[in-house]
Amino acid sequence: MIKNIVIVGGGTAGWMTAAALSRHLPEQCNVRLIESDQIATVGVGEATIPVIRTFNAGLGIDEQEFMRETNASFKLAIRFQNWGEIGEDYYHAFGYYGFPINDVSFHHYWMKMQQDPDIGGIHEYNMPYMACVDDKFEHKQFDNESIGSRYFYAYQFDATLYARYLRKWSEAKGVTRIEGKVTEVTQNNETGFVESVTLESGECIEGELFIDCSGFRALLLEKTHKIGYKDWSHWLPVNRAWAVSTAYENEDTPIPPYTRARALTAGWQWRIPLQNRTGDGNVFCDQYLSEDKALDQLLENIEGEPINEPRLLKFTTGKREKLWHKNCVGVGLSGGFLEPLESTSIALIQAAILLLIRNFPSKDFAPATENEFNRRMDIKYEESRNFIMLHYHMTRRNDSEFWNYCRTMKIPDELQHRIDVFRHSGHTAHKNSDLFIEHNWLQVMLGQGIKPDSYDPRVDVVDPQEVKRLMAQMRTDVAKAAKAMPTHNETLARYCAGE
Ligand code: FAD
Repeated sequence: MIKNIVIVGGGTAGWMTAAALSRHLPEQCNVRLIESDQIATVGVGEATIPVIRTFNAGLGIDEQEFMRETNASFKLAIRFQNWGEIGEDYYHAFGYYGFPINDVSFHHYWMKMQQDPDIGGIHEYNMPYMACVDDKFEHKQFDNESIGSRYFYAYQFDATLYARYLRKWSEAKGVTRIEGKVTEVTQNNETGFVESVTLESGECIEGELFIDCSGFRALLLEKTHKIGYKDWSHWLPVNRAWAVSTAYENEDTPIPPYTRARALTAGWQWRIPLQNRTGDGNVFCDQYLSEDKALDQLLENIEGEPINEPRLLKFTTGKREKLWHKNCVGVGLSGGFLEPLESTSIALIQAAILLLIRNFPSKDFAPATENEFNRRMDIKYEESRNFIMLHYHMTRRNDSEFWNYCRTMKIPDELQHRIDVFRHSGHTAHKNSDLFIEHNWLQVMLGQGIKPDSYDPRVDVVDPQEVKRLMAQMRTDVAKAAKAMPTHNETLARYCAGE
């Protein structure tokens, strides 16, 4: 068994990895994390998707403490404005539309009956969607039996504080933190395996397994191993972001339980509400909008007073050719970056950590484990990329060169297939192992204006009057449950106070 593990980098990726390894590997494993005070973390990354709760729960983290320490708010959805067309607005909410009837997903019935004036919009059957509309949130666990509890939630938090929180947690579990800048990497002459890293101070740190969490620098995977990068900017053209934080007007300002993604002329603007402030940013492509103009756009659109200097971040969307090579595994930005839409980065960090633990190498580093890890991570990245691309490609906007490009670009066959299947049959062609499953694809496909030509034929076998009765009941139940919910502000105040 490998005993000496060295993590290079202490951003969100580094500390999530340290925490998980110290929790899930036997005690004799020695986990050391090197981070440099001279090199700042990326410092953004505040919106998550519900899988993060599995990660925190796996560590045994106390949710109330975690929320207090990271200024976290609850997140039920992402609200997309101006994506299909200027003026359009929809939520990708973390929950289902209605209940299945006779094992057929609810939306097929809705699609059949949607012209009926008594049926209403499909969002009226989605609990988290209806809660978001009025900034409501109730802290509940998912319950498949009750329509008022058929939702998942995630968090919006301060990523820097999350890393700090996990650091404290990991150090208590025996992880050693080493402060210093890695200036040299030593490889075995014959095998090419990394043997040690040397710090500016001259200290040499040896290890058997090295995890590259050094961010965009990719110190081990790229600078040392020269793995190469799959550049996906022809599919995800944004390559810059201005980020700033803003203050709430006062302590009663409603805190929405969702992240907002408002499409602009050459990208989109995020607004992520935490307990004490919002995080805002304009993600854009500099081929279509200059950095100066993008900053102006950001500052025009923010809703509160900026509380720090806007920061410019530069990136190229894509992923390393492989994330695991010999005895180095890349987790986080060192492995790739898609872009912030749909909050996939921290989820991909989590996926990499869990796959690493499941395929944990022995000293012989059998190629099968490396290959399996790489194969699975390729799928996760490609699937997330396709999901994000769906939002851009399925626009009807023609008001800027950027949107004309996105609308007309050639997309990967797999994504085209999913769109075609949905158009033809109303099915989403998802796999249950996907990061995004039926309700996620469905909400974005409908939200972006794709209208299926038909629905599942089994719908016609069920008595339409009975379907109508069931649908009316579901719609009423959702409306009642949403009305009875406390506001997000009330829940946050009570929950974080320990109630
Ligand atoms: P970093 O935070 O860059 O950390 C790198 C670490 O490596 C630092 O500790 C640094 O000190 C260390 N290091 C580097 N070089 C050396 C060296 N030579 N010696 C020693 N130490 C070294 N993700 C989401 O899930 N949701 C979001 O909403 C979201 N928004 C984003 C918005 C933008 C504009 C960007 C760019 C990213 C966003 N992300 C988001 C991604 C998210 O920020 C990252 O995935 C996450 O923070 C992990 O970063 P990291 O730990 O890999 O890298």
